[in-house]
Amino acid sequence: MKFTDLGLDQRILDGIDAMGYETATPVQQQVMVPILEGKDIIASAQTGTGKTAAFLLPLIHRLLTESHAVHDINAMIIVPTRELAIQIAEGLEGLSYFTDVSSIAVYGGGDGNSFNNEKKALTQGVDIVVCTPGRMIAHLNMGYVKLKGLKYLVLDEADRMLDMGFNDDIMRIISFLPKERQNLLFSATMPQKMRELARKILHEPVEINI
Ligand code: AMP
Repeated sequence: MKFTDLGLDQRILDGIDAMGYETATPVQQQVMVPILEGKDIIASAQTGTGKTAAFLLPLIHRLLTESHAVHDINAMIIVPTRELAIQIAEGLEGLSYFTDVSSIAVYGGGDGNSFNNEKKALTQGVDIVVCTPGRMIAHLNMGYVKLKGLKYLVLDEADRMLDMGFNDDIMRIISFLPKERQNLLFSATMPQKMRELARKILHEPVEINI
């Protein structure tokens, strides 16, 4: 399957070209259409399969083509580690390079300066936030995060987040989010505790196994 078959915005196709991707990987072929249709997703996919672009590309397309709040956060991607947050933010920058979609990575361990930069973006609004759970909660507890317009939630490497003990943090973050939203859950494995988390968060999900 070619990316041009999906009806993606031309600016995204230019970003895909610039990244050197030619054909969609299997996980991309399976998840992009249901995400573009607005469905919730639970997908088991390993790292290295192209799963990041599989959710970023339809997300960027939806932000470009649908009305969305300009001074709010539109999408939140929660990940287990700062390394993954940085990696996803870099991919996002590449794929959205020819668009005006804005994004920021929010993760712990930086200096006070990075906290203030994050605070500024979360206060003014930014299209996509890629965050680790603890750091996001630190911001949420202070009350300035603009979440009313949030429409998309992604949990990436969800099994690792559960293994690291982030279940309660994830549920706490979700308690701040609008109820009407599209939810995408990606996990390498699907243990029972993942099914339980999925049951709490997802609405009639399409299940995809790669
Ligand atoms: P991921 O599984 O998301 O960590 O992606 C693994 C690597 O594959 C990353 O370096 C991506 O930039 C790359 N990649 C993602 N999609 C494609 C594609 N359709 N064609 C070639 N490389 C890709």
